[in-house]
Amino acid sequence: MGEVTVNTEWLSDCSGCHVAIVDLHEKILSVLEAVRIQRCPVLTDIKDYPPATVGLVSGAIRNEHDRQAALEMRKACDLVIAWGSCAVFGGPAGAGNIHTPDEIAAAVYLENKTTVPAPPPSKMVSPLESQVSPLDSVVEVDLYLPGCPPHPAFVFEALIALVEGRQPEVNGRSVCAKCKRKMEKTGVETLRSHFEGVPDPERCFLSQGYTCLGSVTIDRCLAPCPGNGVPCTGCAGATMQILTEPNRDIRTEIADRMSRLTRIGRDEIVRSLERSAKSHYSYTMATQMIGNKPTFHIRKWIEEEQADFEAGGEA
Ligand code: SF4
Ligand code: SF4
Ligand code: SF4
Repeated sequence: MGEVTVNTEWLSDCSGCHVAIVDLHEKILSVLEAVRIQRCPVLTDIKDYPPATVGLVSGAIRNEHDRQAALEMRKACDLVIAWGSCAVFGGPAGAGNIHTPDEIAAAVYLENKTTVPAPPPSKMVSPLESQVSPLDSVVEVDLYLPGCPPHPAFVFEALIALVEGRQPEVNGRSVCAKCKRKMEKTGVETLRSHFEGVPDPERCFLSQGYTCLGSVTIDRCLAPCPGNGVPCTGCAGATMQILTEPNRDIRTEIADRMSRLTRIGRDEIVRSLERSAKSHYSYTMATQMIGNKPTFHIRKWIEEEQADFEAGGEA
């Protein structure tokens, strides 16, 4: 096996995918002695783009700098991996697509209620584009690795497969496949927020009236959240069934499942998920695949929620 060189780049993102690679490096080097990390914003001070076998790109496209950096990576690297939910789907920043850049600047800087108001970023920073976009809207992507960040086991397997010239072993299973909690019918009658009560550690969250997105989320993490007492928020993005089948949708799938497991009405669950749509759809909101689904109503749901909030009551 010849020497494998790796470049990484981060676009608009939280840096979490790059911080996660610090663990990964040791694992790569222990098995693949030939891998050489060249450009990596958290590890090296190389700002140009040397030719490389593999390019890992995290982050979404949000401004001109992101576009140029993505193009440079594509030119320099034989294979480009969209690394993390931001690069694959647009990530949590995709929730910004329902606001204009001016609204975002006002909320974050000028009219921020929780900090001293600050002026927006200077002209030295490229302005926000009107929409967040996934990496493949700008360059061709060879492999998609969703996750927020992706579990090192999946990144590792993808790199080895590319180096060995084979297809990575990926699965289409949902997070539930790796969750040990039991789905069982209960007499639960009310929806519960994540911070209400103490969930039974053995029983599926849906059976207890808590929203858990595990059944509509692709497993790229081995289910750490439900295993540690926290419902899945869908950070790895939706399963292929949800993404590709026109009539399947996150809120209706969850509502169907939870209403069968409890005595909570399906419509009540759907409505509850719509009221918190910005959270439940945020990781994948910027993709065409989700954007063409019922999420085109998302602005209406959020405006209704905001109106209820300002009126000081519940819907
Ligand atoms: S995918 Fe998650 S961890 Fe990675 S950069 Fe985006 S928000 Fe951060
Ligand atoms: S819905 Fe959540 S708690 Fe229930 S089995 Fe799936 S991942 Fe586990
Ligand atoms: S269990 Fe869900 S929220 Fe937690 S890491 Fe996996 S996909 Fe993300």
